[in-house]
Amino acid sequence: MLKNKPQLRLKRLDLAPGDPVVVVAGKDRGKHGEVLRTLPREGRIVVQGVNIMKRHSKAGRSAGGNRAIQGGIVDFEAPLAYSNVRLVCPSCNQPTRIRHIVLENGTRALQCAKCGEPYERVRRTEGQ
Ligand SMILES: [Zn+2]
Repeated sequence: MLKNKPQLRLKRLDLAPGDPVVVVAGKDRGKHGEVLRTLPREGRIVVQGVNIMKRHSKAGRSAGGNRAIQGGIVDFEAPLAYSNVRLVCPSCNQPTRIRHIVLENGTRALQCAKCGEPYERVRRTEGQ
């Protein structure tokens, strides 16, 4: 990991693992996928099947960790900037920005900026 990295403010990302998203910028523009994990500290997000990188690795070397890895070429999804993806609203089926609303009972919710439908998700906490 890099040292002397500027301390980034923790950005709360609206997207969570399992959310359907579409990439709106970069080489993978137009690709649809599901959020695999979010990196709020870096403002980045990993989307299934998007930003595939190949890592050429030698057998027995560990990539940052201390686990032994197999040699060869490994495909993996690299994190991309959070701002390059949009949530795909399940109600209107369009890539959309997310609005924050406060419900009458005081709880906060996300809302589709296009059709105004509240966005509800089955929160998956594992893997975060
Ligand atoms: Zn919508």
